[in-house]
Amino acid sequence: MSHWPSPSSILRANPWHTETVRIDDIVQEAEGIATYRLSVAAPAKDLDYRFIPGQFNMLYLPGVGESAISMSGDPEKSSSWIHTVRVAGNVTRTLAGLTVGETLGLRGPFGTGWPVDELTGQDVVVVAGGLGLAPLRPLLYYFMNHRDQFGSIHVICGARTPDGLLFQSEYSDWRQGGLDLQLTVDRSTPEWQGQIGVVTLLIDRMNLARPESTSLLTCGPEVMMKYVAISAMKRGIPAEKIWVSLERNMQCAVGLCGHCQLGPEFICKDGPVLRYDRVGHFLFVERL
Ligand SMILES: Cc1cc2nc3c(=O)[nH]c(=O)nc-3n(C[C@H](O)[C@H](O)[C@H](O)COP(=O)(O)OP(=O)(O)OC[C@H]3O[C@@H](n4cnc5c(N)ncnc54)[C@H](O)[C@@H]3O)c2cc1C
Repeated sequence: MSHWPSPSSILRANPWHTETVRIDDIVQEAEGIATYRLSVAAPAKDLDYRFIPGQFNMLYLPGVGESAISMSGDPEKSSSWIHTVRVAGNVTRTLAGLTVGETLGLRGPFGTGWPVDELTGQDVVVVAGGLGLAPLRPLLYYFMNHRDQFGSIHVICGARTPDGLLFQSEYSDWRQGGLDLQLTVDRSTPEWQGQIGVVTLLIDRMNLARPESTSLLTCGPEVMMKYVAISAMKRGIPAEKIWVSLERNMQCAVGLCGHCQLGPEFICKDGPVLRYDRVGHFLFVERL
């Protein structure tokens, strides 16, 4: 879409500048996972803030540290910024202890996003594993906002258990918004009505009308993304139309410190969203 900004055009002139943001709302999504709605403490400042689905911010807790967290809200309603966070270590645990009205620091947006411009006219398959749905949710909003620009849109969400499926209250809206949503879990409960098994089973069974014109976008555990890509390629989706979102320990977020380097790529600035034919081979190297 020509109106969509490029990542470099929305990078702040000073990437170290940290805004003070206030927590306006907290929604508990699942055990240890919550969604935070944040707004700039000085409201006029947020007017120039835009992000591309798939980009992330660095959230800063003074005296504790900074962590990379993806935006999980609607990219075209950016007056408040939504992040979905799982408690993992110091920063995220401290964040989980904050309440509505308290403040933290935010700098960004950083990184590449999902390639929305390249998806126009394509059929699309989105595959999310667990918390991987958070960085994909802005893309789903984008698809629903511009539904007529795409062919079929299949969304496959997997989780270990039904409780781990995020954003469940929105699923009927997503279906009404033209997304073909399928859910699967590794372990079911007596109430579970959906599918059981890994997400790749759903890729194997999917009705793909024109695989050569289908793009697949995936985020989740790295091992999942690796097998998703293999299954997609077996179904005829070209490697250059497969996109993965990668995570590595990140500190500066602007390609200076080297903490997030993966081969020649810096995940913070060349990623986190990268084409599978560029990085797929690294996913087969243990502990890289
Ligand atoms: C681009 C990007 C987007 C992300 N988006 C999200 C998101 O939307 N939501 C979300 O919840 N998370 C997201 N993450 C992950 C998040 O940044 C990490 O979980 C982050 O490290 C949490 O910070 P922390 O201080 O709470 O945890 P940390 O202290 O960094 O600990 C995180 C985990 O790593 C382990 N660990 C820490 N240091 C080491 C070490 N030296 N050796 C071995 N293990 C170690 C800890 O024990 C813990 O299990 C994203 C990461 C990236 C790179």
